[in-house]
Amino acid sequence: MLRLPRFTYLEPTSVAEAIRMRTEAGPDAMYVAGGTDLYPNMKRRHQTPATVVSLMRLRELQEITGTPSTGLNVGSGVSLAFLAANATVRQHYKAISHAAEVVSTPLLRNMGTIGGNLLLDTRCNYYNQTYEWRKAIDFCMKRDGEICWVAPSSPRCWAVQSSDGVPVAVALGAEVSLFGPQGGRRIPAAALYHNDGMAYLTKQPDELLIAYHLPPVNGWRASYVKLRRRAQFDFPVLGVAARVDFTEDGTVRDARIVLGAVASYPMEIPEAARAIIGSRLDAAAIAAAADAAFRPAKPMDNTDFTLGWRKEMVRVYVQRALMELSEPQRAK
Ligand SMILES: Cc1cc2nc3c(=O)[nH]c(=O)nc-3n(C[C@H](O)[C@H](O)[C@H](O)COP(=O)(O)OP(=O)(O)OC[C@H]3O[C@@H](n4cnc5c(N)ncnc54)[C@H](O)[C@@H]3O)c2cc1C
Ligand code: SF4
Repeated sequence: MLRLPRFTYLEPTSVAEAIRMRTEAGPDAMYVAGGTDLYPNMKRRHQTPATVVSLMRLRELQEITGTPSTGLNVGSGVSLAFLAANATVRQHYKAISHAAEVVSTPLLRNMGTIGGNLLLDTRCNYYNQTYEWRKAIDFCMKRDGEICWVAPSSPRCWAVQSSDGVPVAVALGAEVSLFGPQGGRRIPAAALYHNDGMAYLTKQPDELLIAYHLPPVNGWRASYVKLRRRAQFDFPVLGVAARVDFTEDGTVRDARIVLGAVASYPMEIPEAARAIIGSRLDAAAIAAAADAAFRPAKPMDNTDFTLGWRKEMVRVYVQRALMELSEPQRAK
C-alpha cells in the first residue's frame, strides 16, 4: 500500500485565512481541494508539501451564482458531481456538465472540484508511477531526475494536459479569478496555461483560484468529446472541445476548437475554426476543420494507445464534436 508522507494539515474557514496560512507556511506548502489529484501524487512522491492548506471549509468557493444571460460564476470548490447535476448548467452549458460527468468515477466526482480539475497536474507514463518505479529508471526531469524519457535530447518536459474541464473552459472563452497575497486578478482561462509539462500554469503557487466564469449564452453552442480506453474511468488521451457562434440564419459567425491531451497545454487550433467560419457547418466544412486540426496535433508517446492512432483520432473526434453542433442536431 502506498502511504502518504507526513505533513501538517490546516483548515482555514475563509479565503483571507487560507492565503495567510499558505503565505506563512512558505514555498513548501500547497492548497488542496478534493485531494483526488494531490493525495495520489503525494503518495507517489511527485509532490511532497510539508504543509497542506485545505479549501474544503471555504463555503464562499462552493456556490454557483449568476444567470445564463449574464454568465455563471462557478466557485472553484464546487464538486464535479454538483456541477454536472446543476439544472442551469445542464440546460445552458451542456459541454461543461458533460465534461464534468465524464471525469473518472462517481466517487472521484463527489470529492473532486472544478478548481482542482482546471489546475490538474500534467501526466506522463514515465511520471505517474510509484517512487520505486521512477527510481528504477533514474527518475526524469519533472521530478528528481535530469532526463526526459519521452524525448531524451529535449530540454523540456512534454507531460500531457489531461483534464477534461480545461479544453472546454478554453473553447468557451471562460475566465478565472485568482486571489493571492498581491491581490486579485481575472484572466481568460486560456491564459492560465503554459506549453510546458513542468511549469504548466501561469498562476503563482500561492494564488488561490476563486471562481470560474462562464460566458453569457447568446447564440453559441458548445460540445466536448473524449477518447479513453475504459469509458467509466480513464483520463482523456484526447479531448476535443468546440464552441460555435451562429448567426440567426444558421451561418457560423465565429468558432473555437481546442484539443486536450495532445500537448502540455490546451491547444487551440485557429485553422480549424477558420475552416468553418462562414459555412453552415455542413459536412464539407466539418471535414475541412478536421483536416486542419489533424495537421498541427502532435501527440507524444507518453499516454495510452499508440501515438499514430491518437493522431488519426484527432480528425475523427473533431468531426464528432462539430457534428454535435450541426443543423440536424440543433433542431432537437
Ligand atoms: C483514478 C483517477 C482517475 C481520474 N480521471 C480523471 C479524468 O478522467 N479526467 C479528469 O479531468 N481528471 C481525472 N482525475 C483527476 C481528478 O480526480 C480531477 O481532475 C479532479 O477534478 C481534481 O480536483 P480536486 O479538487 O480533487 O483537486 P486536488 O487534488 O485537491 O488539487 C489538484 C491541484 O490543484 C490545486 N488546487 C486545487 N484547488 C485549488 C484552488 N482553488 N486554488 C489553487 N490551487 C488549487 C492543488 O494544490 C493541486 O495542485 C482522475 C483522478 C484519479 C485518481
Ligand atoms: S515528458 Fe519527459 S520529463 Fe516530462 S514527465 Fe514524461 S519523461 Fe518526465
